Amino acid sequence: MEKLAIKGGAPVRETKLYYGHQYIDDKDIEAVVNVLKSDYLTCGPKITALEQRLCEITGAKYAVVVSNGTAALHIACLAAGVAEGDEVITTPITFAASANCALYCGAKPVFADINEHTYNIAPESVAEHMTEKTKAVVAVDFTGQAAELDSLLKICRENNAVLIEDGAHSIGTKYKGKAVGSIADMTTFSFHPVKTVTGGEGGAVLTNSEEYYKKLVLYRAHGITRDTSLMERESQGGWYYEQITLGMNYRMTDIQAALILSQLDKLDMFSARRKEIVARYNEAFSRLPEVTVQEEIQQSDTTRHLYILRIKPEKLTIGRKQFFDAMAAENICCNVHYIPVYHHPYYEKLGYERGLCPKAEKLYEEMMSLPLYYAMTDQDVEDVIHAVKKIVENYKSN
Ligand SMILES: *Cc1c(COP(=O)(O)O)cnc(C)c1O
Repeated sequence: MEKLAIKGGAPVRETKLYYGHQYIDDKDIEAVVNVLKSDYLTCGPKITALEQRLCEITGAKYAVVVSNGTAALHIACLAAGVAEGDEVITTPITFAASANCALYCGAKPVFADINEHTYNIAPESVAEHMTEKTKAVVAVDFTGQAAELDSLLKICRENNAVLIEDGAHSIGTKYKGKAVGSIADMTTFSFHPVKTVTGGEGGAVLTNSEEYYKKLVLYRAHGITRDTSLMERESQGGWYYEQITLGMNYRMTDIQAALILSQLDKLDMFSARRKEIVARYNEAFSRLPEVTVQEEIQQSDTTRHLYILRIKPEKLTIGRKQFFDAMAAENICCNVHYIPVYHHPYYEKLGYERGLCPKAEKLYEEMMSLPLYYAMTDQDVEDVIHAVKKIVENYKSN
């Protein structure tokens, strides 16, 4: 048996491998520099070009790009009409922003449990949590696999709720042959550096609804319009505009938009490499009885953002924390996605109690995210597999 690095043995590799990393090439750099040399740093042609491109990629009629994925979720909730007294159903296994967007609007996040095999929000749990107050459902395409959109849409339609798909993980994914972005009432993306495509920061909302589109544009920029058909008064001249609602400044810069456009040229390449790595991990880990591989959703042709390794505590003498620490000692830096949102102190103070979503809480205790990003070499991938096997070998119970 190989001696573990955490017990003084040699690590599987000398340098640290991180769980995610952006990939920036010379074309990306050139695209950004060109904007810096141009007339527009914001509200310029790259914004329109990016919105058009996102529509082409997803098949959505409208795209509204914003400063980040959190801003995208916020204006999507506003456009859906989420307001004080409403409820918004989401999953606890997500980044806090998927629930915070309800709080921004004065509404209450309600947590539905996950499917224990796919880790996505379970439609039957969403249905159970529907009330007269439910205004929207924020369904996360966790790790990149599309949520069960058909079932969720049906439940939303029956209950007069809006389906917002948090696609922060899923750009490039198709659900039943259709790209995410054109299926839910609104879909949001994030272009944070850890996501598949980056702009440093950035976000977008996609929709087929002209009504939502018009609202999204208003909420993105102060609630101000120059469109005379929306104005309440007569125009007073060429300079005239009106603020007709309360919006934010959630604009994206042309610098970000240019970088995202350049990155989108590489989306197929990013997607293919991520699929390759996931296939190699699945092949290796499905042979280990001590761990569980996330179930592949057949309707989802997935561009993976995250790879989850789930341990079976009953087959090991250690828990997730010790496993995670042992991986770090081998120089494989994992992460955990996510701490159930309602476990955070802020949510606890709002009155959310443990035990709300047992499947999500159990998953949290047993999972970690392994390195997954475009620029990983085959050797990096083998190092991760080697480390997992080494730890399992040392700690398996029998
Ligand atoms: C990253 C992420 C967000 C937030 O996106 P930002 O661009 O960082 O604001 C929202 N939801 C999920 C599921 C995410 O992973």
